[in-house]
Order: sequence, then C-alpha cells, then structure tokens
Amino acid sequence: MRCARCGAILNGLPTTDHLRRNLPKTSKRPERMFGGFLCSRCLREVLKNVVRGSVLK
Ligand SMILES: [Zn+2]
Repeated sequence: MRCARCGAILNGLPTTDHLRRNLPKTSKRPERMFGGFLCSRCLREVLKNVVRGSVLK
C-alpha cells in the first residue's frame, strides 16, 4: 500500500495478504481520515489545505 500523493510506502498497514488475513477488519487500516491512502506527512498537508478551503489540488 502506497501513499496516493507521494507514493511512499504507508506505515501501519499489513503489507502481505498472509498478515492481512489474520487481522480483524477494523485493524486493516488506521482509524482516521484518509487512513490507508496517504502517508502521515501528506495527510497533514492535505488536512491543512482542506482547512484553508482548497481540497487536493
Ligand atoms: Zn505521501
């Protein structure tokens, strides 16, 4: 799983199907907005832009 914005590999997600199968659904991705889509750095940037009124440009 990679960041949709910068392509960095995301932390906090199981990288293999083998690991993913052993986890309950709720543990698959971080419980936050854009969790599993953006890295923490891009997430912070995007949320900052959302607050300013320009979304994902
Ligand atoms: Zn990123």
